[in-house]
Amino acid sequence: MIYEIVLDLDDVCNTFCTAALGIQDYGVYPPACGWDIVQAANRIHGTDMARWEFWDSLDRDFWANIPPVPYLSELLTYLARRVGNDNITIATSPTLSPECVAGKLEWIHRRLPLWIHRQYMIGTRKDRLANPHALLIDDRRGNCDKFVARGGQALLVHQPWNHTDSGDWNHITLLSLQAGLYKYFGERFEY
Ligand SMILES: [Mg+2]
Repeated sequence: MIYEIVLDLDDVCNTFCTAALGIQDYGVYPPACGWDIVQAANRIHGTDMARWEFWDSLDRDFWANIPPVPYLSELLTYLARRVGNDNITIATSPTLSPECVAGKLEWIHRRLPLWIHRQYMIGTRKDRLANPHALLIDDRRGNCDKFVARGGQALLVHQPWNHTDSGDWNHITLLSLQAGLYKYFGERFEY
């Protein structure tokens, strides 16, 4: 049974990747780049940016203003009904910049309901929240694998860097979320 949710922010609750790359659609992302957005940016834009240049270009306003996924509100409501408000934690990895941390917190306060405004963990070690009754919802395979290795359960949200599906990525991502949630809770997430 799942009693707790650990919910990733970037590319699960929001559309970080398309915003950071300045692309309209996840389908533009080159799958060959895997989970390496700097390489993807260089390939898409024909640039030769260093890692620090790419990450430093994302300021507090950028992080605070990333568009949410269209079903964010419905997703929160669905999850809260399954495990209760108190048992949902937002878990998100920061860059090295304090601007990122401040912007992410601003995003949480702007986009999410009041009850979750202080239920977050900003750090790379999401696996430390793992236990047999906790479900991590994340688009990074490495995060899911570490969470499972530490005794938790994980739902991998499909994105071009973790799956070989083809077609409309907005649809593919939502379908993977719906299928995964149904598997764990036996109730459809309607959107
Ligand atoms: Mg993510």
